Amino acid sequence: MSEISKGTERSTKCQEHQILHGRLRADTKVYVDATRRLESCKQEDFEETYEAAESARLAFLRARKALALHVVAHKCER
Ligand SMILES: [Zn+2]
Repeated sequence: MSEISKGTERSTKCQEHQILHGRLRADTKVYVDATRRLESCKQEDFEETYEAAESARLAFLRARKALALHVVAHKCER
């Protein structure tokens, strides 16, 4: 029951996909950086650093899900 593509393969990139992908990359970087800080932070800063890493992780997951949902709904590859 899949809708076969209507032959309009103009290889134009999906702009929303690009935006979501860019956001995912940015959120991934923030998450990775936050995780690195966790390794070297002082004991008394740990909770705060951990909270920052955790919210960065959630943002990363949201961005990843947003991109995945977009791909499913829109059937675009990039
Ligand atoms: Zn798209």
